[in-house]
Amino acid sequence: MNEQVNFRIGTGYDIHRLEVGRPLILGGIEIPFEKGLVGHSDADAVSHAVCDALLGAAALGDIGQHFPDTDPNYRGVSSLKFLERVLTLLKESNYQINNIDITIHAERPKLQNFKNAIKEKLAETLKISLTQINIKGKTNEGLDSVGRGEAIAVSAIALIYQTK
Ligand code: MG
Repeated sequence: MNEQVNFRIGTGYDIHRLEVGRPLILGGIEIPFEKGLVGHSDADAVSHAVCDALLGAAALGDIGQHFPDTDPNYRGVSSLKFLERVLTLLKESNYQINNIDITIHAERPKLQNFKNAIKEKLAETLKISLTQINIKGKTNEGLDSVGRGEAIAVSAIALIYQTK
């Protein structure tokens, strides 16, 4: 095997405010909770952070540039659509996803029981296997906006590759 593999890495981060009366969507999964994330789309911070990690790895800019929150077409839209579009952009540049590691920073709700569902939804959307995605949940130990339960933040890192 003498094919050359070009690996590239990217990071993504997102934070959205929590408010009563909004659904809580993380990685395309609706999670039962008394508050949800506020944003122009469905405010799915997991999908947004993953989009940015993948775009970053491919040097294709950021989510705000591809899906501006001033565009009425994106109001209330499922952020899985953004992931599908990012996947298409990667394919156009002949990139494949190696793996994605995600950390969800949330004081509440407990995400342990939803991690598998999120993983399955992301794997299905990005057409990769479950072993290529990892989800970690962390509290913020009561500190800052996340710790006070005012927001949920997500960080993600992605490794992609191109074979020549
Ligand atoms: Mg966002």
